[in-house]
Amino acid sequence: MSEVAIGIDLGTTNSCVYVHMNNRLKILESKEGGRITPSYVFFTDQNAVIVGQYAKRMADAKPEYGIYEIKRLVGRKYDDPYVKNNLNYLPFQVKNIGNEPAVVIQCRNQIIKKSPQDLCTYILEKIKTDAEAKLGHPIDKAVITVPAYFNIAQREVTLAAANRAGFTVLKLLNEPTAAALSYYYENNRSTEDESYSLVYDLGGGTFDVAILQKGDSDIKIVGVDGDTHLGGHDFDNLLVEHVCQVLIEKYNYNPKNDRRNMRRLSNECEEAKKILSVSEETVIILTAFLTDPNTIEIPITRKEFETKAQDLFKKTIDIVDRCLKKANLDNDDIKEVILSGGSTRIPKIQAMITDYFEGKALNKFINPDECVAEGAALQAAMLSKDSSQEITHIKITDVTALSLGISNFVDLMTFLIKRNTPIPTSNKTRRITVYNNQTSMTFDIYEGERLEAKKNHFLGVLEISDLTPAPPGECTIEVTMSIDQNGILKVSARETVSNKTKDLKIVYTRGSRSDGEIKNTLVDATENKQEDQRFSKFAELKGYVIKYCVRSMYNFEDKNLLAKYRAAYDKCADVCKNVKNLHVDDEKEVIRLKKEICSLIGPIEKEYKFAHMP
Ligand code: AMP
Repeated sequence: MSEVAIGIDLGTTNSCVYVHMNNRLKILESKEGGRITPSYVFFTDQNAVIVGQYAKRMADAKPEYGIYEIKRLVGRKYDDPYVKNNLNYLPFQVKNIGNEPAVVIQCRNQIIKKSPQDLCTYILEKIKTDAEAKLGHPIDKAVITVPAYFNIAQREVTLAAANRAGFTVLKLLNEPTAAALSYYYENNRSTEDESYSLVYDLGGGTFDVAILQKGDSDIKIVGVDGDTHLGGHDFDNLLVEHVCQVLIEKYNYNPKNDRRNMRRLSNECEEAKKILSVSEETVIILTAFLTDPNTIEIPITRKEFETKAQDLFKKTIDIVDRCLKKANLDNDDIKEVILSGGSTRIPKIQAMITDYFEGKALNKFINPDECVAEGAALQAAMLSKDSSQEITHIKITDVTALSLGISNFVDLMTFLIKRNTPIPTSNKTRRITVYNNQTSMTFDIYEGERLEAKKNHFLGVLEISDLTPAPPGECTIEVTMSIDQNGILKVSARETVSNKTKDLKIVYTRGSRSDGEIKNTLVDATENKQEDQRFSKFAELKGYVIKYCVRSMYNFEDKNLLAKYRAAYDKCADVCKNVKNLHVDDEKEVIRLKKEICSLIGPIEKEYKFAHMP
C-alpha cells in the first residue's frame, strides 16, 4: 500500500479530492472527469448503487431513488427539528429508525434502508476507487474535512464511514482550518507576529467561522463558531418557496406533491441564485410542469433575492461578531478575511462582510470550491510517511467548537472541556458517591453551553460499575475525558477509596435520546444567562437537600438510632423522594422542605455528631 495520503473535502453538495505530490498540489478528478464529485447516491432498479455525477443526473429523472444532502442528516436524531424541516424539501423518503433518520428506497420488490453513515460510505468508496485509478496504485490514507461546528456524534459517524470505505483517517480536519492552510501555503508571506485572520466559510449546507493566529510556521485557531444548519441550500429553499407561492396563486398548482417537479424546481432555483451573483436579474424557467402553459417564466431580481435572504445573511455576520467577541478581539484586529465555500460568491454577502470589517478588502485568491480539499491534501502530506514529500510543515493547533461536560444528580452541567480549548486536550472531574454502599454510577454526557444539562446536545451515557462499597461520600470517582486531534471523545474512570485506586469498568453508550428544541446552545446560553443562573442556584439547593437527607438516613442506620428516630428517618426518605421530582419553578417548595428537614434533624445531628454531612 502506498504511503501517499489524499485530502478529501466531503461536502454537502459536492466532494473534492486533492493530493500533494512531487512538491505540488494536484486535483484528482473523478472517473467521469469532473473536478468535483457530486455527493449523490442513486439506487437503480437492479439494486446497483451509482455515486457522483451520473447519480446526480439520474436523480433529476427519478428523484425518489437519488439521495443527496446526506451530510445534513449525519449524526442527528430523527426528531431534531432541523431534520424535520429539511424533510419538507427532500424528495426521497426518510424514516425514523430508533430515533435515527434512515433513507428508505423502494426498489422493485425490495425496500432498502440506508443510514447516513451507509450513504457517506458509498461516496467515500467512490472517491477512493477514483483516486486509486488516477494515481495508479491503491491508497488507504486520507485527511477528511468536517465543519468546525460538527459535534462529536457527527464526527464519529464521518470517521466510521471512512473506516468502512477502507480509509485510515490520518485526521479529521476542520474545514475553515483546511481553507486557512491552503491560503497560507499559497501565500507564504511573512506576517507580523500575532496577526489574526478570519475564515468565513459558507458552503451548501453549513457555515463556519474560524479566527486564526498566524506565526512563522504555525497556525493557531483561537476561536471557531458557526451553524451547521445554514448554507446555500437554505437560500435555494427561499426561492423554491417563492416559486411555489407564485405557482399556487397564479396557476392554481402546488408542486409540493410532485417529487420530480420539486427536484427540478430546486435545480432551477439554485441555477437562478448563481446567475444572480453575476447578473441583476434572471428568469426561472419551468418547462412541462403544466400542459397549459407548457413553459412558465418567473422573473426574479437580485434585490428581491437579497431581501428574501437578508435575515440568513445577517445571521452569518452575527456569528462572525460573536466569534470575535468570544476571542476578545475587535473587527480591527483582523488583518485578513479569507472566503471559502461556494456561497461566498454572493455579492451581498461579500458586501456585508466588507461593511462589517469597515472596508477591508476580502481575500478571494483561493478557489472557494477547492481550497478545503487543497488544505486537506497539504495536511495529509504533512502527516504521511511518504519520503518523497518535501513539504514545509506548518503546525496547526485546532480548538473544540463546543463545551463538553457531564450532568450531576440534579442535572447541573459540570464542564470538563470548555469551548475553544486547543485540542488534543483532556480534563478530569471528581465525583463522590451519594448513597451508602453505592456500587455504580451513571453520567449523562452532553455537548453545549447551557448550565441545565438536558438543554444541551445529549451525547451518551457513561455507566461506571464495580465501585467499592463505602459510606456516602467516601468513594471518589475520577472521570477523565479527552478530545483527540479529530475531535473524538475518549473517556476513562478510576476510583479512590481509603487511598487505594483502581481503574473502573465503563460502558459508554452513544445516545439516541432526543435533543428537544435545541438549536444552538451557544446562542441559547448567551440569551438565557439569567435563566441558567437561576437553574444553577436551584440545582445547588436541591442537591444540598438530597445529600442532607441521604446522609442523615445513613447516620440513623449506622448509629443504631432507627428504633428511636423512625419518624425522622421516614421524613428524610420522604423529603428526598419529593425533592427529586421538583423543578426550578418549585424553588419555594424546596426552600420550605429544607427548613423543615433541617429543623427536625439539626438537633439530632448535633447531639449524635452525625458524620459525612454535607
Ligand atoms: P460548497 O459546499 O462550498 O461546494 O458550496 C456549494 C454551495 O455554493 C451551493 O449551495 C451552491 O449553490 C453555492 N454556489 C456556488 N456558486 C455560487 C454562486 N456563483 N453564487 C451563489 N451561490 C453559489
